[in-house]
Amino acid sequence: MDDKENKWDFSFKNIVFPLIFLGIFWGLAILLSITSGTIFYLFNFGYIGTSIATGIFLIQALPRKHKAWGRRTSQILVGCYMLLFLGFFNRENMQIEGFFMLLLSGVFAAATMHYLIAKIVGPLIFGRAWCSYTCWTAMILDLMPYKRPQNKRIRYLGIVRYIYFFIALSLVLFIWFILKKPVEPQSSTELYCFIGGNILYYCLGMILACSLKDNRAFCKYICPIPVFQKATSRFALLKIKIDPDKCVDCGKCEKVCPMDVKLLEYKNNKQRILSTECIWCSTCTYECPQNAITSTIGFDAGIRDRLNYR
Ligand code: SF4
Ligand code: SF4
Repeated sequence: MDDKENKWDFSFKNIVFPLIFLGIFWGLAILLSITSGTIFYLFNFGYIGTSIATGIFLIQALPRKHKAWGRRTSQILVGCYMLLFLGFFNRENMQIEGFFMLLLSGVFAAATMHYLIAKIVGPLIFGRAWCSYTCWTAMILDLMPYKRPQNKRIRYLGIVRYIYFFIALSLVLFIWFILKKPVEPQSSTELYCFIGGNILYYCLGMILACSLKDNRAFCKYICPIPVFQKATSRFALLKIKIDPDKCVDCGKCEKVCPMDVKLLEYKNNKQRILSTECIWCSTCTYECPQNAITSTIGFDAGIRDRLNYR
């Protein structure tokens, strides 16, 4: 085995992407802190950006067999912060229903900002990185034993996420306009909704993971968040690319991809990985025995998701 595989790699190329993330988040933190006059945004975005940049750096620098810990580190640092501090302690319902309710209330809280940056506008730059580096639901589901999907993706089941999105929106509109009982921001009711929503997500996610032998089944079929993300992430500047000169078509990248992306079809079409199902987890990049897969910056848009179906 190449000796480099067992050593840390602190070369300059490995700190470029972490520095980009660090710059974006700290720039945002300073800007929002100055314009709003509150120190919270400095702490919030500074902490999140530093945690993500640390994870990306670890993925690049750790010996190959430990690289998965890079993403896990960010996931735990940011996921716990959002779940415990913003959700439980600050009493903000970070679930999609809480976001809809805040929008109707016209309250500009951490949850509104979070959706705007992580799930709607941010994906124009970093795609669905939220789903691999920071989601507190996936933080738990990724601990389940089915890290590599053991069956192909079920065609058309992904429509459930759109149905869920529609039901959540309708429910909030019903409470707001018909019952006229809006949930007060940071109230006990908002906290109970957040706890209930999370219990539902965790239970559903674990049941699906065990029955379909796939940790990310919840993400593929049920979670409503990708409805936002998929609209903008198709234009993401950061995307994965396979170097056709290095690739030997061994297919390992497709076997390890937790989201069932058919990477080789993109390579054969001379495209970057345009799928809006790619969560930028980097698993394919460090599992590729030829080091043929990298993250790249560019401008293009995916229309069709190339996925592995039953
Ligand atoms: S699809 Fe949903 S549950 Fe899965 S990682 Fe993304 S936001 Fe989290
Ligand atoms: S294509 Fe690569 S980066 Fe994207 S989800 Fe699959 S393994 Fe992760």
